[in-house]
Amino acid sequence: MSYKVERRRPYGGKKRFHKHLAWAVVIIALCAAAYGAFKFKPVIIAKLDGAESLPSSKNASSVSPSSAKPSSEVKKPVSITILGAGDNLIHDSLYKQAKARTNGSGYDFTPVYEHVAEQIKSADVAVINQETVVAGNVAPLSGYPLFNSPTAVGDALVNAGFDVINHANNHILDQGEKGIKATLDYWDTKPVKVVGVYRNDEDMENIRIVEAKGIKTAHIGVTEMTNGLHLPKGSQYKIVMASDTELIERLIKKAKSMADVVVVSVHWGTENTYELTDAQKKLAQEMVDWGTDVIFGNHPHVVQKLTLLTRASDGAKCPVIFALGNFVSAQLSGKNMVSGMLTVTETKNFETGKTSYAGMTFTPVVTQYGRHCSNITIYPLSEYTDKMASEHGVRKYTPSFSKKFIQDIIDKNIPEEYQAK
Ligand SMILES: [Zn+2]
Repeated sequence: MSYKVERRRPYGGKKRFHKHLAWAVVIIALCAAAYGAFKFKPVIIAKLDGAESLPSSKNASSVSPSSAKPSSEVKKPVSITILGAGDNLIHDSLYKQAKARTNGSGYDFTPVYEHVAEQIKSADVAVINQETVVAGNVAPLSGYPLFNSPTAVGDALVNAGFDVINHANNHILDQGEKGIKATLDYWDTKPVKVVGVYRNDEDMENIRIVEAKGIKTAHIGVTEMTNGLHLPKGSQYKIVMASDTELIERLIKKAKSMADVVVVSVHWGTENTYELTDAQKKLAQEMVDWGTDVIFGNHPHVVQKLTLLTRASDGAKCPVIFALGNFVSAQLSGKNMVSGMLTVTETKNFETGKTSYAGMTFTPVVTQYGRHCSNITIYPLSEYTDKMASEHGVRKYTPSFSKKFIQDIIDKNIPEEYQAK
């Protein structure tokens, strides 16, 4: 694939830095190293992807190429955060509102994500399930049941800080092969990695890796269902199906051999229930045993259980959230408005070369809208009020919708010790 973006982020947060600043600091670091008088931390490297330019960093204070590091120096343990978000489910009201914001000259989804973008950007690696194809350039836009979204949705996700986009889900075939092609063509122009759907076998074998602070995270996407749709016979495109456990096991083991942390985005389970299926539980443990370190589950449209599974071979603790809920949607039930962002911390010990789970936090978020699904916006629960709940358009369908309603769902599925305070 043409995209190979490796990013290591500065301490205390993610992101990119200004080229000029980077070069200046690199030169200073090299000079200092030459005099043996400079002891610096490991670093940030950014490889540019073709013509892509990197936005400036808020925290580009310690920049140096790792190749300049004195080989005798043993690195201290380093931690990174990996954030997972739920289903980005673009109903027609969402793109109509995005269009209205530009007076019809385009689509602006920025306000949908503006209250959560800071937290997404602050994670070293951020992953989301893009539930709909972004093939608006080749086919008419549409909502449920056969979705097609404008590419501006992708622009908003990139601007919000997402690095990995999962497309292994039940809507990937909504616009057929041309929808997949247009979606992958669009993402190729962005500094993100797409997982779960691939152009061909070779593309699928190219495990997507995002590096942060010297820690490599590998990403895989798996789906249990494609809504009864299938790729045409002889198609080159590949979707990783949950039933193909041989393939999943091989991809996970391959990813594990290439990276410090393996993250799987998986689309599974039953919609609108908190009950896990036996298939979810079985596949979760299998994927952990094959080498997965973090599982971000999606599809049920509600928040499902968060737990730590233990890998049989080495006793490693692996966070699994069975469903993160709808990150955004225009669904019509109170429980579909409740979601969360799971931030997992992984720490690498450079002496042993081992990377392990070091904690996690679930930040509840709420999709807010007015009458007739107007002004759809995501809020962290910490910024949410009962007044906002009383004004929520979903009250028409779920009169009991309130902060307590939301908190009860969180308490039922997320152990208190992992809830953001
Ligand atoms: Zn789904």
